[in-house]
Amino acid sequence: MAFPTVQIMDVPFIKATNRAFLEQLQQDITQKNRRFIVTANPEIVLYAKDHPDYLTTIKAADYITPDGIGIIKASTALKTPLPERVTGYDTMIALLKKADQQHLKVYLVGAKPEVMARVVTKIQTTYPGIDLCGYHDGYFKDDTKILADIKAQQPQLVFAGLGYPKQELWIKENYHLTNGIWMGVGGSFDVLSGLTKRAPKFWQDLHLEWFYRLLKEPTRFKRMLAIPKFMLLIRQEKSKN
Ligand code: UDP
Repeated sequence: MAFPTVQIMDVPFIKATNRAFLEQLQQDITQKNRRFIVTANPEIVLYAKDHPDYLTTIKAADYITPDGIGIIKASTALKTPLPERVTGYDTMIALLKKADQQHLKVYLVGAKPEVMARVVTKIQTTYPGIDLCGYHDGYFKDDTKILADIKAQQPQLVFAGLGYPKQELWIKENYHLTNGIWMGVGGSFDVLSGLTKRAPKFWQDLHLEWFYRLLKEPTRFKRMLAIPKFMLLIRQEKSKN
């Protein structure tokens, strides 16, 4: 493991800045290292707490990064601070930029068919240096052909936007197929397609990205209750120490 880790409710997060993490990923690309990346938010940590199999799956990852201000706050409360958020979306964009400059092979799996179609166009126009060697929406019944294609193409980067826990289970099962990087990116294809908007920087800087998302997609309310529930559990853990 290239980085020290900080445990938050049994999930080992890497203690790394975005910059250090990207330097490491560059090295992994150059050395053709097989890597599995999880970007975990409070919802994922809570889910892992209640689903030991999923916890085992994400612990198999090479890097678990703190995706969400809730994780950073928890790390500070537990007196083992993590430097900053390392989000799935930002990491995916940084890797796409590298792929554009270095003409890397990229494979995309996930999201609805119309979202994936827009993502493909967006990548071809914004990052023309990328060798987009394959893609598929995330609503397949049988992944045999997709996996055979990935194995044959040997992309350096595979992005899976199937939502948790599906994407991590799928990556764990299949990442042996290439000597490259596989990362779960959640709803990042929806954002990249332009169909879902990320919070403006102002909201992000105030750490209110979650609130912006709630206003845009009120049906997420139930899912967002994970954040206060998570903070409550962290407070309990803190009082034990
Ligand atoms: N999704 C998919 N296949 C499925 C279920 C979900 O491709 O069987 C996609 C869905 O279209 C969306 C993403 O997975 O693009 C999950 O998005 P969400 O916003 O829930 O993820 P988060 O970023 O919160 O993890």
